[in-house]
Order: sequence, then C-alpha cells, then structure tokens
Amino acid sequence: MSEFANGRIPESRLVALGSGRDADGTWKHLAPPGTAARWNWLRATGRAKYGVTLRVTPGWNLFRPLDIQFLYRRRLGIMAAQPGFSSHGGVFRGRDCMAIDVQNWGDLAPGNSFTAWARFVALCRLAGFQVDFVKPRETWHIGDFDPWKVPAAAKDFRINSIRVRGQEESDMPIIIVQRADAKLAKGLFDTTTGKLRREISKSENNLYRAAQKTDPAAVIYATVSDKDYAVLRG
Ligand SMILES: [Zn+2]
Repeated sequence: MSEFANGRIPESRLVALGSGRDADGTWKHLAPPGTAARWNWLRATGRAKYGVTLRVTPGWNLFRPLDIQFLYRRRLGIMAAQPGFSSHGGVFRGRDCMAIDVQNWGDLAPGNSFTAWARFVALCRLAGFQVDFVKPRETWHIGDFDPWKVPAAAKDFRINSIRVRGQEESDMPIIIVQRADAKLAKGLFDTTTGKLRREISKSENNLYRAAQKTDPAAVIYATVSDKDYAVLRG
C-alpha cells in the first residue's frame, strides 16, 4: 500500500499527462508512474490497432485531490464518490487504485457501441486496467489497482483473469502469452474467459510472428511470470 491517504498524494509523486482550464480554474491529469505507463501503452495500442487516440476526459478525471472531490460531490451528487473514498483518490476499498475517465472509447467503433465496448474492454484488460467496478455503472471509468508499479517493459503487462461480457469478435488482436523465464511455452489468450485457450506449437508461433510483421497490431505478445502463466493456463 502507498503511504498516502485518499486524495492526498503530493503532486511531486505524480506524472503530469495534461492540463487545461475550465470554469473551476486549472485542472491537471496526474497519474502515479505505473498508471501513467499503462495508460500510455493503452493509448499507443488503441492508435496502432484502431487509429483512435483515447483521451482522458478534461477536468480532474485522473487523480482527484480531496478538495476537488468535495467540489465534484456537491455538483454531481451520487454520481461522484463521497469525498475521501473516490477511486480517483489513490485508494479504493482498502487497496491502491487510480481511476481514469476515458472520454472517447466509443470512437473505437463509431455507431456500434457493442463492438466499441468489446474493443475497449480488451485493450483495458491487456494494459492492466479493470472496467466496470463502481456503482452506479460508469462505462468510461477504468481502474489501475497496481498504480505505483511501473511495468518492467512495454510488453510486461499483467493480464487480469476476469471475465469479459459479450462475445469475441474476429477483428480483435491475437494475444499470445509467453512465460518470462521459458520463452518456449506460449499460449493463445482468450479475452472472453481471461484464460489461455490452448498452448501453441513452435511452427504455429512462427506463423503468428510472420503475421505480426505484416500487421504489427494484429498480434500482441505479452510476457508473464511462471506463476501467472500457470494461473492463466488454469
Ligand atoms: Zn471516474
């Protein structure tokens, strides 16, 4: 756990991703370093795969300092958390957490919210964000429950084994999970179950490598620890 109470993280500990002005004055998009890395990876992957640059909603919609939590609660009522308990504050239900409000996930498939949602959930899952964890439901609100840990490399993203609703669509990138310390064992990740569907052979892997050369966003390699690999294999 971080040492900071909800809404009390010093700005010096956060990465600035953007800022602007509105009727309340200046706002900033501030993220703990792990969240910043995951968000940057999510954006880059969304851009590479769908040509869409995801945006944080303008306003204090990443880290939300305590005084702003009071302001938003007065304004939004139950649609904003009780001050001191916001998942935008750094702690949520006793765990480190940093939430981000994503303004434009619908752009991932204009006019088809089901497909846009499926793509958004897959991207979030790969980047290590959870969706759909607050009430009332907020589709735009995603959470990083490991905000202070920076992934060792861009490909080193934890894959949450939680279920996605809805069906898989063929246009989704193929995700191949490999073990950090034994690169030979590789499996196809199933975004609908959050588990490996099956392991793949060396020759099949060579085909995926070739496909990736043609379309870099079509195949994603994710490296996980031996332990996580065992969990994903089920
Ligand atoms: Zn939010």
